[in-house]
Amino acid sequence: MAIIISTRCSGCGACLSACPFGALTLTTDQPRGRGKKRAVVDHALCCSCGGCIDQCPLCAMTISLK
Ligand code: SF4
Ligand code: SF4
Repeated sequence: MAIIISTRCSGCGACLSACPFGALTLTTDQPRGRGKKRAVVDHALCCSCGGCIDQCPLCAMTISLK
């Protein structure tokens, strides 16, 4: 599955459109959309295709084979 390295993620959203399964969304670390944005992976939808990895300008994504 795709893994987001949250300390690197800026929440730019560039990876979202790269996922053909809609497994990526943005969330924030505070209620009502406030705070720092970051990407999250829905593990039920991610099939580990790796299509999103190269789309991240900050190298904040990787794949876990577990
Ligand atoms: S690895 Fe593939 S299925 Fe998983 S989030 Fe990235 S693009 Fe989507
Ligand atoms: S492209 Fe990278 S920095 Fe941008 S939201 Fe996705 S994981 Fe975060």
